[in-house]
Amino acid sequence: MADRLKGKRAVVTAAAAGIGRACAIAFAREGATVIATDINEAGIASLTKEGIAEVAKLDVRNTADVNAFAKRVGKIDILLNAAGFVHHGTILECSEEDFDFSFDLNVKSMHRTIKAFLPDMIAGGGGGSIVNISSCAALRPPANRYVYSSSKAAVSLLSRAVALDFITKGIRCNSICPGTVETPSMLDRAAAQGPQGKEMFISRQKMGRLGTAEEIAAMAVYLGSDESAFTTGVDLVVDGGYML
Ligand code: NAD
Repeated sequence: MADRLKGKRAVVTAAAAGIGRACAIAFAREGATVIATDINEAGIASLTKEGIAEVAKLDVRNTADVNAFAKRVGKIDILLNAAGFVHHGTILECSEEDFDFSFDLNVKSMHRTIKAFLPDMIAGGGGGSIVNISSCAALRPPANRYVYSSSKAAVSLLSRAVALDFITKGIRCNSICPGTVETPSMLDRAAAQGPQGKEMFISRQKMGRLGTAEEIAAMAVYLGSDESAFTTGVDLVVDGGYML
């Protein structure tokens, strides 16, 4: 299929690697004009070869930068928020700094970008779709994911609250809850668990394999497109059976 997002402008955060990158590429393949952002400039530079219209450095933890970026970009049709960090440990290993960092990057970043882009999405007419990358950890926390699970639960509810408040303005807001997906940071987390680390992560998936970033991007394309026009305020689970 192609052109499912033709005529739409999309902004993707954390697009240098993993799920964000796959979403940016999939959006462009479906005809969207994509602005791909990340703090890792080298990582996003290569995206122009993948049909991405523009790459821009953006730290989603910096409110002034997010506001200036949104002002420059203007009206968009799709906002995909992918930035997130997985802290390892229970509440006992989670310092106040760890807690604040996780909530700032995982949740408040979405508050910043949505707040910055929403006024123009509404004013421009034609509606818009906000897609937030949450996690299955929001719905059923795995062990040692105390602050990650808490922050992703906040992402899911933030998405629902935005969906409800702007449903009559043509804005849809949904979250995607991936299971374990093979991405650079996921492989680092597996390696940190020792030689059996990857097997341990695979064993959480009842399908017996990790997901691919492209499998998550397929859901993001659906949510960004008008095919999902009747869908808002939900968590869409793409998890290889993690929740079963
Ligand atoms: P990743 O962790 O491999 O890459 C994350 C990207 O975020 C990097 O390119 C990094 O430069 C960027 N980034 C970090 N801080 C940033 C900041 N302040 N501003 C802008 N960009 C920043 O990516 P991933 O594993 O695909 O994770 C992407 C999202 O998917 C995260 O929200 C994560 O929680 C979620 N998720 C991942 C999995 C998984 O198994 N990989 C499962 C469920 C949910």
